[in-house]
Amino acid sequence: MDFRSLRVRLTLGIAAVSALGIGSVAIWTSSRTQHLLVAANKHHVAYLAERLPQDIEIYQQMMARSRAMQKAIDNRTTGTTLIWVEGEQGEILAQSDGLKVGTRDRALLSLGNIPLFPEVKSLNDRYWVMCQTPLIVQDRNLGELVLATDITEEQVMFQQLLWTLAGASIAAIGLMTIAIAFYVRRSLCPLEQMCQVAQNLSSEQFEREQLQFENAPTEVKQLAQTLDRTLLQLYQTWEQQRQFVSNVSHELRTPLTLVSGYLQSTLRRGKNLSEAQTEALGIAASEAERTIQLLSDLLDLARVDNHHLHFHLEPIVLNEAIAEIIEMARQTCDRDLEFYANETVSAIADFNRLKQVLINLIDNAVKYSQKEVVVSLECAGEQAKIEVRDRGWGIPLAQQSRIFERFYRVDEARSRSTGGTGLGLSIVKTLVEGMKGSVRVRSQPGEGSCFIILLPLV
Ligand code: ADP
Repeated sequence: MDFRSLRVRLTLGIAAVSALGIGSVAIWTSSRTQHLLVAANKHHVAYLAERLPQDIEIYQQMMARSRAMQKAIDNRTTGTTLIWVEGEQGEILAQSDGLKVGTRDRALLSLGNIPLFPEVKSLNDRYWVMCQTPLIVQDRNLGELVLATDITEEQVMFQQLLWTLAGASIAAIGLMTIAIAFYVRRSLCPLEQMCQVAQNLSSEQFEREQLQFENAPTEVKQLAQTLDRTLLQLYQTWEQQRQFVSNVSHELRTPLTLVSGYLQSTLRRGKNLSEAQTEALGIAASEAERTIQLLSDLLDLARVDNHHLHFHLEPIVLNEAIAEIIEMARQTCDRDLEFYANETVSAIADFNRLKQVLINLIDNAVKYSQKEVVVSLECAGEQAKIEVRDRGWGIPLAQQSRIFERFYRVDEARSRSTGGTGLGLSIVKTLVEGMKGSVRVRSQPGEGSCFIILLPLV
């Protein structure tokens, strides 16, 4: 659980406040119930403490004081109320029958610290409302009158109620936390979706994910709608940019091919050109050639981006296909090109795209090394593995993951002198992935590079 996430914080915060609310209501309800239960008994005890001296006074007119005292006590004693009178030395002057020797509640007589006003006291798992008051009859202090009302039954009922209340509160808090977690998750869902869309955002992937925010809170909905509009504008801009690049490349390539053709033929046929003129024309021709290559690469990428590049995938015997491509590459370069394959390997591929990929990689290997270039073919599990190896400059580890990006070049100055465009490897990657394969590089600066292509076997 991530305690920094908005979802966890909101859930815990709302759950804590709800728990506090439910807890407070439960505590208030229980204390109020307890108060009401005890209050009635307290009133009864206080009433008896007030009435008993008057009863004794009445009985005294008919009998002796000690008998009058006992008579009044017997009269007011009930199944739950016990009364006794203590003399100055603590001796019992009169008492309810329930306090006599051998009775269950006799222990009450030895209880000390009995308050002046009715209060709850517990003794041997039983609860009593008790009070003690001087017994004054006709201005004479006859001793201490002690009253005790048994409230054990009410107290047990109250404790059961308390447990039920606590259980219900815990269950309510648990259910509420689950409901809150669910609600918060649902409310923040569009935020997570927006985050994912932003992470997956790329100019190469044109399909725009539609954000779902029908049930989201207003603020989140507004944010999602704003992001949705921004994304739409962004995708439209990218689309216009792609269209522009594609149109410009297309429009420039044709006249430039003409220019290049004229330059080549002038160079071939121009017998009376000075050395400086020949050199200038040579530079112009090679720059025109480089620009035509750049425009072709840009057109290829624009076709991929617009999903206009189609792959004709079919089973191919790679040994024959690669041998043919290498033969073709040998025509245009004077480097030693070797090809090794110990077994016959057939894969699902598009021959023309594979040719473009290998020519690109061989071209790079020739450009960025001075020694022989080796191409090898083998089976690697469920895939065909083609390696293009050179013993050249190599690529530093930090840059190996970036060389497949468009226009990325490791060493700008050195790469420019080799005449590249910085688009070759991104085309390689796009084409290989279009054939459901993958490409990666292994390289050691100063030792050389190895580009590995994996294609699905037949
Ligand atoms: P470029 O047209 O510049 O060759 P690429 O996309 O083909 O563009 O390659 C990108 C960069 O990766 C190059 O500029 C170069 O620095 C590096 N690179 C590619 N292939 C090799 C290789 N075989 N050896 C060393 N560096 C390479």
